[in-house]
Parts: sequence; C-alpha cells; structure tokens
Amino acid sequence: MGSLICIQHNKTYDAGPKIINYLNPDFIYIPYEKGFKLNIKTKEKVLKESILLTKDNKYIYSPISGVVLGATKMIIDKQKVPCIVIENDFKEKLNKITPAKKSVYNYQKDEVNKLIKEYNAFNKNLDGNTILINGIDLEIYEETYKTIISKYSSEILETIDAIYDIFKYHKCIFVIKNNDSEIIEKLVYQIGTYPNIELKLMPDLYPLGHKDILIDELNLLKNNNKITYLTIEDVLAIYNVLRKKKPITEKIITVSGNAIEKAKVINVKIGTSLKDILNNNIIKIINDNYKIIINGLLSGYEVESKDIVITKKIKSIFINLLDQEEAKECINCGLCHRKCPVGCDVRNNFKLEKCINCGICTYICPSKINFKDKKVK
Ligand code: SF4
Ligand code: SF4
Repeated sequence: MGSLICIQHNKTYDAGPKIINYLNPDFIYIPYEKGFKLNIKTKEKVLKESILLTKDNKYIYSPISGVVLGATKMIIDKQKVPCIVIENDFKEKLNKITPAKKSVYNYQKDEVNKLIKEYNAFNKNLDGNTILINGIDLEIYEETYKTIISKYSSEILETIDAIYDIFKYHKCIFVIKNNDSEIIEKLVYQIGTYPNIELKLMPDLYPLGHKDILIDELNLLKNNNKITYLTIEDVLAIYNVLRKKKPITEKIITVSGNAIEKAKVINVKIGTSLKDILNNNIIKIINDNYKIIINGLLSGYEVESKDIVITKKIKSIFINLLDQEEAKECINCGLCHRKCPVGCDVRNNFKLEKCINCGICTYICPSKINFKDKKVK
C-alpha cells in the first residue's frame, strides 16, 4: 500500500455532536427494483413497517404509515429510477409489534443470521474467526460514525460482545481515531466490562476508514484469517433488530458544506428526499450557488438535483459552493501517483483496476485536474 495523507481541518464543516431527528417527511420514495414483487396498489393505505416489495427472502418495508400515491422518478445513487411514492399521514400506525428478547445475548447463531437479513440490518452471515468493527468515518467531515459511537456507546459495546460470544470469535478489534477524545473517554470508561473487545486507536489519516486499507494496515489477512467486517452503523442496526425485532427504516447521515448555515448529523427515514429536508428547514441553504456531493468531498459523487433519496448507502451529503478555480495543465509533479494509497497512476491508466475511488489524486493535484470521471470504477 502507498501513503496515507493528513488532511487540514476546516471548522466550517463541523457537525454533531448531537443527532437531530427528522422522522416526519411529507413523502417517502422507495425505489422499485427489477425482480421485486409489489405488495401494494395505488391509493392503498400502508402501515409503518409493512412489506412493500419482496424478492425471495428480501423484504422492503414502509418507513411510515400513509397512502400510496403512485410512482415517480427520483435519484437513487447516481441515476433517476422509478420509485413508489407514499404520502405520510403522520400517524406512525404500526404493522405489528413482535416481542423481542430481553437481551442481545439470548440468541443462537442461526437466529441472528436470519433476523439481521430479514430486517435489513446486515446482508451476510456473521461467521469467521476475527471480527473487525470500523468506527472511523471514511471521509473528512463525515461525523456519522463518531456521533453514533458517542450517543450509543453502551448499546454498541454490548452488541459487539454478544456477537463475539454467540459466534465464538477468537479476536475482536474495534478501531476508532486517536484524536476523537470524547469517544475515547466514553469507551475507555466502559470497555473494562468487555475484556474480549480490543480497542485500537488509529491515526487520523485518510483513507484509513476504507475497509481494504484498514484491513491491510492492521495486517489482518495473514494466517488465512476469516474476517467479519462491520461498520459501527451495522452494529447499531444489529442491536436494533435484536433488541426491538423491527426492520431498519431509519438512517443517520451527516449533512455539511460551506453553502449551508450549520452542518448537522441527522436521523431520517430511509426514503426521505433531500428536497424534503431542505423545504422543512432542517438544513438551511445560505448561498444558492451550490453543488450537491454525496458520500464525501474526496471520494463522493455529484448529483444534479435535490431529488436525491436517502438510501442505506448514503452516509453524508455535502452542499458546497461551486468551484471557481479552473483546471490548469499538468506540471508533472507526480503527486497523484506518489500519494495514491494503492499505487495507481491515473494519468497513464496504470493499475486503475486497483483504484478504491478515494479521490486523493484529485484532491492533491496542484493543477486542480479532476480525475473523478477518468477512473474505471
Ligand atoms: S487513482 Fe484511485 S485509489 Fe489512487 S488516489 Fe486516485 S482515486 Fe485514490
Ligand atoms: S498531481 Fe496533477 S499536476 Fe501533478 S502529475 Fe498529477 S496530474 Fe500532473
């Protein structure tokens, strides 16, 4: 692996440490994926957590109660796709209440593996000998993981310990940044109760929060290690499924940028549109000359409209002023190659199949050349 880089901090982008709830959007948009069977009809009333779409053993649940209005096209990831529109009746009428077990330790392996998939917490089995928990936000100014740890530290430690116990792991590593003093203090205070969890403090370098880079830095691929990799968000989702027996219908994201009044970490219903968040003044735009970047200033991608829908894949939204600086000619400084963490040379299409889309080459380039569209993935 190549070098990791230290990125200068700008306080304008700081969000947290509180999580703001925005759980009553006017509408919810659920992408209608090919191969799924529709369980609802237009004008039909739906209950919160009722099943809208099914495919084999996969279920898509309604995050709200309301009425099915029909379909429209919204932006999901990078593309406009057909979505089911549900108008909120703001009653939060629940489908059914399934009693959960009193403790996250009271489950068998098979039960856990079934529930976490059925309720959309995690889509793989939790098997292996080493469990790696990533508490490092991948992107600069993303504060989603950090805020989740700060608010839910005891639930998180209990769930990690229960998974370790139920699945009989040999090793459990929980990584956080070494400069997050508030969460270090909280975790160190509680970790004595959980001797199986090894808390590892890592330097604040980019892109250490990337799965492959982290596994490589920790040297975990030796001795045929079978690693289960979970983010802190996965752990919280697993906790919610095991403790509440409810599908995952909410999502914590960072909304930041230099074109908004105040960056915030917000908890929203999956299927909420950015337009709804802005129209309801949860986030206030202070300059209309902006662009929208999804999942990070370095490794994220731009979308052209506020019709972007919050899905499970979205960790952050940045609303930033448009760039004024034009790209200049390459001065052959070689930084884009030298600083690439996986050794690609994006100018010469060298090893681009290894690219992890971290965005360092674009960030580091003194000529402001944007390589984001040039790469393979
Ligand atoms: S080529 Fe890919 S991996 Fe290398 S710095 Fe650029 S974006 Fe990152
Ligand atoms: S960092 Fe920019 S200017 Fe330097 S070699 Fe790469 S493309 Fe050229």
